[in-house]
Amino acid sequence: MSGSTATCAVCPRNCRLASGALGACRARRNVGGAVVPEAYGRVTSLALDPVEKKPLTRWRPGGYVVSAGSYGCNLACPFCQNHRISQAGERNVGWRELSPERLVGLTAEAAARDPRVVGIAHTYNEPLVTWEYVRDTALLARERGLATVLVSNGCAEQGVIEQLASLVDAANIDLKGFSPALYDACGAPPGALDAVRAAIERLFAEPGCHLEVTTLVVPGMNDSEEEVEAMAAWLASLGGGRGAERITYHVTRFFGRWRMADAAPTPVSVVRRLADVARRHLVHVRVGNC
Ligand code: SF4
Repeated sequence: MSGSTATCAVCPRNCRLASGALGACRARRNVGGAVVPEAYGRVTSLALDPVEKKPLTRWRPGGYVVSAGSYGCNLACPFCQNHRISQAGERNVGWRELSPERLVGLTAEAAARDPRVVGIAHTYNEPLVTWEYVRDTALLARERGLATVLVSNGCAEQGVIEQLASLVDAANIDLKGFSPALYDACGAPPGALDAVRAAIERLFAEPGCHLEVTTLVVPGMNDSEEEVEAMAAWLASLGGGRGAERITYHVTRFFGRWRMADAAPTPVSVVRRLADVARRHLVHVRVGNC
């Protein structure tokens, strides 16, 4: 029924979906001519995490967030560290419904028991494929004095980021590399790197949003000094050079997962060397998984 075909405007893949069809992320479906977030409120993972684990190292230190994840992702990075949920659909992963009201209620109860609990993190799979859940939960969370954290690949259309920016208190956005070829290797649609850069720029510009950025260093894919230096220099240049002091950049070590399960981990010496390269431009650089 061509009349019911619809195009999703959430990410640059812009899936064109026949009636009833599922998007490439497995989280959105064309229902009656409208692309809806089918995975809205379907939670596969729920945990209480230190904010440092997100990672956020210069925001609410010592705080905890209730971390919630669903299933689905609009990328398919062969080295995905969370592939069991990111690459899953509704039929091959366990999930339960958790409305925004219930998630905020659970978090408020946790905060009442332990004042170190400061809010909710949308994490584990790609939260932006069900961005409406992030929005609705964030609005309720703010009413209860709870913060919202976004851990994301940043690969979304600008309209989505625009709607969320003022609701996000802290974000950690993946910058997987600085070449379209790297994003191609992650199964990303054309324009993905531009979309991620635009998302980082928009969140950086949001006065109430604390921003940190992460690159998982994968041997042979994004481990050149030139690429890491280019990313660090660009981050530092944001806001007329204010990025150099304001953005915390995480250079993290890869361990073999999913389609690269047999690959050797990134040598610690490489991670440390690349972090030093990034420090030529950025004040706050951290190594991770070392
Ligand atoms: S979010 Fe992206 S991958 Fe998912 S349906 Fe929309 S355009 Fe497709």
